[in-house]
Amino acid sequence: QLAHIDIPIVTERLAGIRHKILILSGKGGVGKSTFTSQLAFALASDENSEVGVVDIDVCGPSIPKIMGCEQEQVHPSGGGWSPVYIMDNLCVMSIGFMLPSPDEAVIWRGPKKNGIIKQFLKDVDWGSDERPLDYLLFDTPPGTSDEHLSIVQFLRNSNISGAVIVTTPQEVSLQDVRKEIDFCRKARIPILGVVENMAGFVCPHCHSESKIFYPTTGGAKAMCEELGIPLLGSIPLDPQIGKACDFGQSFIDINPSSPATKAYLSIIENI
Ligand code: ADP
Repeated sequence: QLAHIDIPIVTERLAGIRHKILILSGKGGVGKSTFTSQLAFALASDENSEVGVVDIDVCGPSIPKIMGCEQEQVHPSGGGWSPVYIMDNLCVMSIGFMLPSPDEAVIWRGPKKNGIIKQFLKDVDWGSDERPLDYLLFDTPPGTSDEHLSIVQFLRNSNISGAVIVTTPQEVSLQDVRKEIDFCRKARIPILGVVENMAGFVCPHCHSESKIFYPTTGGAKAMCEELGIPLLGSIPLDPQIGKACDFGQSFIDINPSSPATKAYLSIIENI
């Protein structure tokens, strides 16, 4: 019942934001937060774009670490809470900023998660009326859980641009992507497409490519064809991606000519 009071407030608060994109995955560990962070860095590399990231992975907030702002704190502003700015045109909000230590576990049931997500949408100052965000990216937990239900409910009238679903080529991950697709269809969220991550590894010594996660059933391409969903692209496994994340850096900026950067940029063009 309370949500019915809050939905119009959220709708108004986010009304000026042009693109609201959910990043989903069926399984954990497939590279969803990594993709979110690199997408945000890439979008913000255009200084005319204003970009925001909301980390709604309440129990496993990794965005502050991988976007290099782990030590930051949120501050009150005239319009609510001010998100953490890591560049002039790139800001982040995460429960990670509110924990006394990154090692502290968040052990919350659904209603409390719902409450913090509501605050992230309702009470955060996502840019001024004169210069609203162009993109707001939502990094979600894996699966279809409390956080997903909350976000879908609060954004019900907010014109979500759609969802990007991240998977590895392995059947065990694709199986869960099918559930994610079903969730999007039931919740009436447009599916922008699927990103296949960790697709192939080029050995730095012999330069030949190996498939680490073998696509026994044809991988993301076959699944997307079967379900009539765009495959936005495939990102290779590259140890430099993990390294950039550990240092909170933009992989794309520091590896401009790598095949993974080309993959990221072509995916962004396809979204
Ligand atoms: P999720 O958000 O799906 O749980 P993460 O983004 O945290 O997954 O990624 C899981 C791990 O895989 C992290 O250690 C990350 O650095 C690493 N990783 C993600 N994508 C790649 C990639 N393309 N190449 C190498 N490592 C990657």
